[in-house]
Amino acid sequence: MTQQEQTIPAVPEFVDDSVDAEAREAAHRERGTVRPITVVGNPVLHAPCAEVTEFDDSLAALVDDMFASQRAASGVGLAANQIGVALRVFVYDCPDDDDVRHVGHVVNPVVEELPPAERELDDSNEGCLSVPGAYMELARPDRAVVSGVDLHGNPVRVRGTGYFARCLQHETDHLNGYLYIDRLSKRERKDVLRQMAEGTPAYETVPNP
Ligand SMILES: [Zn+2]
Repeated sequence: MTQQEQTIPAVPEFVDDSVDAEAREAAHRERGTVRPITVVGNPVLHAPCAEVTEFDDSLAALVDDMFASQRAASGVGLAANQIGVALRVFVYDCPDDDDVRHVGHVVNPVVEELPPAERELDDSNEGCLSVPGAYMELARPDRAVVSGVDLHGNPVRVRGTGYFARCLQHETDHLNGYLYIDRLSKRERKDVLRQMAEGTPAYETVPNP
């Protein structure tokens, strides 16, 4: 076999999701429809979502609706099951450690395992649109890489630091059927649910079945 015939596994370049962030977010949101947000206890949030296999207009419309819903709820990330759709898609509009704004979406995301030497644990506060009005410290790696595909089915890789790294991990967790409160101790979880019960969400939510 000659060298040219050897196949090297293609690892896609990292997407530059800070270019035209404002315009891209606005375009998605303006095409989309705001949908109410599902909250903890809704079964759609507590089961793994299905892999996307159809890269059609309805997937593009879903991404647009997710951007519209994310903005209406003042979120920095949103998973499809948070608007009641059990498909592996998330969107984000989130600042990183250097306050750079990142805007994008990932279909069928997987968090890549980073060597411990390349990351540190960061125990900043975390919150979730599906657990309205509550926050709790949660240790997570301060860097993350997510690979998946875009809404046309083309491979993408996204990397983030700081708050954006937290967002990438949090949203992928959603699609695996986990909320951040599932990573807390019993006592912390109880505290978070108490915080939630004491407040009224500032956006429309789906009543639990
Ligand atoms: Zn969330």
